[in-house]
Amino acid sequence: MTTSIAHWVDGAEFAGTSDHWADVTNPATGQVSGRVALAGEHDAQHVIASAATAAKAWGETSLAKRTQILFAFRELLNSRKEELAHLITAEHGKVYSDALGEITRGQEVVEFACGISHLLKGGYSESASTGVDVHSKRDPLGVVGIISPFNFPAMVPMWFFPIAIASGNTVVLKPSEKDPSAALWIANLWKEAGLPDGVFNVLQGDKVAVDALLHSQDVAAISFVGSTPIAKYVYEEASRHGKRVQALGGAKNHMVVLPDADLDLAADAAVNAGYGSAGERCMAISVLVAVDPVGDDLVARIAERTRTLVTGDGRKGDGPDGAEADMGPLVTKAHRDRVAGFVASGERAGAKLVIDGRTVEARGEQDGHWLGPTLFDHVTPDMDIYTEEIFGPVLAVVRASSYDEAVELINANEYGNGTAIFTNDGGAARRFESDVQVGMIGVNVPIPVPVAYYSFGGWKRSLFGDTHAHGTEGVHFFTRAKVVTTRWINPAARPEGGLELGFPQND
Ligand code: NAD
Repeated sequence: MTTSIAHWVDGAEFAGTSDHWADVTNPATGQVSGRVALAGEHDAQHVIASAATAAKAWGETSLAKRTQILFAFRELLNSRKEELAHLITAEHGKVYSDALGEITRGQEVVEFACGISHLLKGGYSESASTGVDVHSKRDPLGVVGIISPFNFPAMVPMWFFPIAIASGNTVVLKPSEKDPSAALWIANLWKEAGLPDGVFNVLQGDKVAVDALLHSQDVAAISFVGSTPIAKYVYEEASRHGKRVQALGGAKNHMVVLPDADLDLAADAAVNAGYGSAGERCMAISVLVAVDPVGDDLVARIAERTRTLVTGDGRKGDGPDGAEADMGPLVTKAHRDRVAGFVASGERAGAKLVIDGRTVEARGEQDGHWLGPTLFDHVTPDMDIYTEEIFGPVLAVVRASSYDEAVELINANEYGNGTAIFTNDGGAARRFESDVQVGMIGVNVPIPVPVAYYSFGGWKRSLFGDTHAHGTEGVHFFTRAKVVTTRWINPAARPEGGLELGFPQND
């Protein structure tokens, strides 16, 4: 039986009027499990109008009331996140514990936003001039659009909407059409938490829905996460329409292993960060740079670990004795075939295929989108398995003769999302964090996703715009600064009035 997945507007589901739908598939079975509404222009305007209508009252709602609702949302999410994790596994394919992990990281941003009263405090200067005081404040923007990718249907929207809502904005979330149910579940939770209707809305759809958000005069800002070509398009199009934009794009994250590193620690990290979530993470490690002479030893350790991984249906306890698979299927059949195409291309280009994921015996139904962990050695920078973002469980090992050569590789790459160095040499690690042109850096940490009170974002073609997600930068993105200069006359010492057309001086 398939379910219909609707939009969410004015605190209720809305089927839309376009009569366009897209199939939603369970990647572990290959079966269609639902169909999602694809908004037409008219539907999009209806959803945006709901957010616009609610904006004034919500922006004027006291910080105390907003914070109470955020705390209620946090409590509900924390107590019911297993439901959401099951939904994510069924549509995305990632294993249940990984789905739970993404919700927990998203929840950290909700917890950060619970401190909004403190985060929005302005400055105050008494007697900046005689009888004149100055204070600063941050106002909400109005309606903000959030456009998210398939790979984190809960966490990525949560990088933005808790702070946007806490700051007094109303939200239209446009989730990926590949796994749209999480957004609707979250909308229901907001309602239960007491959020007024119209503050959080969901617009399901494809390019039509995205373009409606980018072009609408009622939308003040856009937070986008997805592939680099679409991020660039969204940045340019939304900017052209006068909006504030942050557009986070793709990645090709390098992990450097220096000769003095703990090789067991590095091998564990490479496997976890290379194959977790089947490599469908923007912070996945896709290139491992082995600095001479560790290459052979390191590749042997990675291969040994990789051969133990179980690829299978990600549903909780689906394996023998209730064990969970390590890695699930890829999101769609088309994506699975694209990644398999890269494996063939790497072989043709002459890289050494140490483990071939195309031959995996997956624990699951035959029609699942299976591709097992794949390991290439002796990859060179001219090969497309090096240059392209594969977004699958393919780890490419490049050999480098020195630290400098490793850093040159990272800096020559068009992306700059995340990187990591594995070493026991503190001096080298310290130098690395200055030398690399990358936004998020791990030292003996392979996936350095910042905690919620720091900001998430890459450099180069991994981010279009100036502002990173969450943390202080997130608060600034969703608010606009004002400075108020106030003069009150002391009635006991009333100054002489009079006209003075010169530029005001402080005294
Ligand atoms: P995608 O770019 O295909 O889709 C992202 C969003 O854009 C979706 O909501 C989709 O409906 C919409 N979209 C797709 N095509 C469009 C078009 N032509 N015009 C307007 N909108 C369009 O990305 P995806 O496949 O869903 O996600 C994977 C990508 O996201 C990878 O490149 C990954 O690196 C990136 N990603 C980046 C980060 C980051 O923080 N930098 C985080 C997660 C994912």
